[in-house]
Formats: sequence, structure tokens, C-alpha cells
Amino acid sequence: MPRDFLIDTDTASDDAVALIMALRHPDVRVVGITVVSGNVALEQACANALYSVELCGANVPVYAGEEKPLAREPAYAEWFHGCDGLGEQNYPAAKGKLHQQHAVDAIIETAKAFPGLTLVTLGPLTNVAMAIRREPGIVKNVSRCVVMGGNPCCEGNVTPAAEYNIWVDPEAAAIVFRSRLAIEMVGWQLCRGDANVNAREMNLIRGLDTKLARFAIDCNRCAIEANRVQTGEVGMALPDPIAMAVALDPGVVLEASDHHVEIETMSELTRGMTVVDRLNVAGDERNRGVWSEMVSRKVRVVWRIDVEQWKELLYRSLRA
Ligand code: CA
Repeated sequence: MPRDFLIDTDTASDDAVALIMALRHPDVRVVGITVVSGNVALEQACANALYSVELCGANVPVYAGEEKPLAREPAYAEWFHGCDGLGEQNYPAAKGKLHQQHAVDAIIETAKAFPGLTLVTLGPLTNVAMAIRREPGIVKNVSRCVVMGGNPCCEGNVTPAAEYNIWVDPEAAAIVFRSRLAIEMVGWQLCRGDANVNAREMNLIRGLDTKLARFAIDCNRCAIEANRVQTGEVGMALPDPIAMAVALDPGVVLEASDHHVEIETMSELTRGMTVVDRLNVAGDERNRGVWSEMVSRKVRVVWRIDVEQWKELLYRSLRA
């Protein structure tokens, strides 16, 4: 029996690669793709999702969702992914059309129709928060919610305190992290260092000589340069595909543990910070006053992944 996946995405270049990994995985059925404003404007993200689906020859409904965060203005990341989110390669418009239904309704109905669903979120959590707010009961139908987002106990990529997906819509993230969803948090730091796809590995991917392999590299053209500027690391950083690898094969995770995680929404300095109670100080009677508001269930925080295994999952999805 294939596992059912619902993917929420602000489709830019690394999202596109993550979509390919799921759409091409033999044991997974992608039952829907919901699109949210994030790295690029909603309309562009929808076009990119449709294009990624078409490249895979897949037939999956794509739903447009929220055009802006719950309480803030959009903040796109075109400087990172290119003005079209896909490396400015002039990809043609997909022939496929968006499904009529709104993404928030689609999340609710899909969760009801596919109990045990795996939800994978690759963008700001606006759509998911809206769905939970409207129908809190859906969380029990989701067996795993793999979230690409946050920067547990380390630096962020928008501010020193915050990672992009959470920073863009911290109010939505707070709703989702305080819900009873079975969250597995795949932070941005997991795409750094050896997890970057280096020059040799990019050549290896090109050598696969498939349209998906070429696309995976080309659509990240701007992101590769932006990664060098942002982190000083040379290579293709792929946070969304790493989250997808965790969703596809939990064996990719080498180290994870369960913690209270709260999202900062009040401060501008630390807006969107994922505050991880790594030492379980909330469980200490002496700190009860500070943490009395803490009602969320624990979140599984991924600390370390098997880099070789994640890359093998990537290569596999790009082969003929
Ligand atoms: Ca994304």
C-alpha cells in the first residue's frame, strides 16, 4: 500500500526538487499539492508547482492557497531563487490547470479522506494554520507532519534568530506548533555543510542525463550563487528536499528527540525564532512560572541526518 502524501509548498527551486522526489517515489502517492505565498508570490508558486508536476508526468491536483501571511505582509525571497523562483531559465507555462478548490479546504478534505496521511510542509505555514483553525479535528488524521522550518538552537537565515519559513508567518507557525499535529521539525541547518550538493555531485547528477536531473540543477542556478553569498558555502543547499527525504525514509534521520518548541511572535528582533526546550527546563518546577503558558505537545526535532542516504534518495528520483 503506498503512503499518502499531501505537500504544502511555496514552490521555488528547492521545493521543485522536493516535489520531484515525492512524485517519483514508488511507495508514495501524492494525493494533493497545496500552494502558499512564500519564496515567490502565490501565482508564481502555483505555476512552478504545476510545471514540476508536469515534468514528472504526474497527475496530481494542485490547489492555490493563501496570498499572504496571517497578520503580516509577504516577504519574497526572489534574490535567492531568481525572479521566477526557478533560476530564471524561462521555463514554459505548464498546460495543467489549478484545481478550483481553495488550498485550505483541500487540506481539510484531504485529511478527512485519507486518514493516516503524511503532511509535508515546505513553505510558510499559513495554509496549514488556516486549516487547523477552521477544523481542529483534522490533526488526528495526520500520522506525520514533516515541517521544513526553523533553526533549532542555532543561527537562522533571515535574521540570526530565525529561518525563513517560520519568520515569514510566525503567527501561523505558532498555531501549527501548538496544535496536536505530530510534527517532525527539519530545520534549515540540516542542509548545510556536507549536506550541500557539491560540485562533484552536481556533475554526477548532470551525468544522469535526464530532463529531471538537468532541471534539478538548472532551476537552482540562482540559489547556488545566493547560498555562497549567504553562508560562504559552495554548493546547492536543498532544505526542502532534505525534509522530503526524512518524510520518504525516516531512516535518513540519525538523531532526533522530542521537545517543547515555541515560536516567537512578539519581538521584532527574534521574530519567528523556534525556541526549543532542549534541556526540558519547562519540566522543572522552579521554572513553572515562566513556562505556564506552554500547552503544546512535544515536537520531534531532527538534529542529524545521514548525508549519503539523503543524497542517494535525491539521485534515485532523478534517474531515468
Ligand atoms: Ca519552500
